[in-house]
Amino acid sequence: MRLTLLLLTAFTCFAQSREERVAKAADALRDKLIEQRRDFHMNPELSNREVRTARVVAERLRAIGLEDIKTGVGKHGVTAILKGGKPGPVVAWRADMDALPVFSSSDKPFKSRNNGVHHACGHDAHIAIALATAELLAGIRDQIPGTVKFIFQPAEEGAPRGEEGGAALMIKEGALDSPRPAAIFGLHVWSLAPTGTVNFSSGPAMASADTFTATIRGKQVHASTPHLGIDAITVAAQCVTQLQTIRSRRIDPNESMVLSIGSIHGGNRSNIITSEVKMEGTIRTFSETTRENVRSMMKRTLAGCTAANDASFTLEFDGANYPVTVNDPKLTAESLPQMRRVLGDENIRASLPVTGAEDFSYYQKIIPGFFWFLGVRNEKLGITGAHHTPEFDLDEGALVTGLKLAANQLLDYLERHR
Ligand SMILES: [Zn+2]
Repeated sequence: MRLTLLLLTAFTCFAQSREERVAKAADALRDKLIEQRRDFHMNPELSNREVRTARVVAERLRAIGLEDIKTGVGKHGVTAILKGGKPGPVVAWRADMDALPVFSSSDKPFKSRNNGVHHACGHDAHIAIALATAELLAGIRDQIPGTVKFIFQPAEEGAPRGEEGGAALMIKEGALDSPRPAAIFGLHVWSLAPTGTVNFSSGPAMASADTFTATIRGKQVHASTPHLGIDAITVAAQCVTQLQTIRSRRIDPNESMVLSIGSIHGGNRSNIITSEVKMEGTIRTFSETTRENVRSMMKRTLAGCTAANDASFTLEFDGANYPVTVNDPKLTAESLPQMRRVLGDENIRASLPVTGAEDFSYYQKIIPGFFWFLGVRNEKLGITGAHHTPEFDLDEGALVTGLKLAANQLLDYLERHR
């Protein structure tokens, strides 16, 4: 008992001194971190087009002195290794790099110079925090028991149609191999949470997302003789209503799930019955079982609905299809005390899963991962714009908080699992 107490005290003292050391080093990097974020903010690039971003990331990683810097992993992905001076496990940190086709309404001097492209999801902050974390850890390399792998990932928002990209492609091209990390961490800036706070969920944290296109096919005919054709519009209307009963009648009310049809197109004249209607939509769930069930119920619903009307259909799942982001409960639980020490108990907040999706989920299908939300909202400064909008902005004061949390999280993991 006495020994346990002694060890506990020693560990607590050590932990405190580590957090103090990290805080000091992070504060010294504050200006550079903000400057780097602004540079990426001014030069946003779309998914799978992150040419400059990847070049700058690789240059900075070389300057920091990381090893085994690989570029062109999954198109414009970059990976790098920071080998600590002591033996220990391998842990990964992932940052996504792409921007969105959104006009920026910013009037700041560092607003986007790439007209119509805007870091409207804050991935510029993710890159800058990851680079600063690499720099901070490189400065104390000798004391690190193990290896940190940094993964800078393109196309998180989804590759353009017909292209592969994002986490799935990086993994396919070896991002999690040689060395294979035992765990992975990452953060997303969060415009709904105030600066100085973190939101997290243990278990399912973000929804799966499946984009689909359903095409209903009938038979074109003069609108005055509908009995001679097959009206794809009336069939599609029935299908839309039937598809909504998956949510309302067929999935357990306790199970979260969204099925939205966001676009529907068919026909071109008042006096022609059209032969084709295309519908596009998205499914969100928090469980892989529900996800599979919904996909299969959709097929059966469309099959029944079209067969009853002598029409036919195709259902394609295309574009960005992401699994559920599931935070490993054990990894999450063991990470929280360290985060609480950095930010204070009351600022590390358990929250409900969100219906947004993240391709961080692909890494978590292979190794345990913990993905959390860094508050960047600051009402006093008028920083309240939502993600994916022209007004999106973030409180740069939160960047150094992200750096402190990230560096401590990686060190904590390595020390715990050495
Ligand atoms: Zn994002």
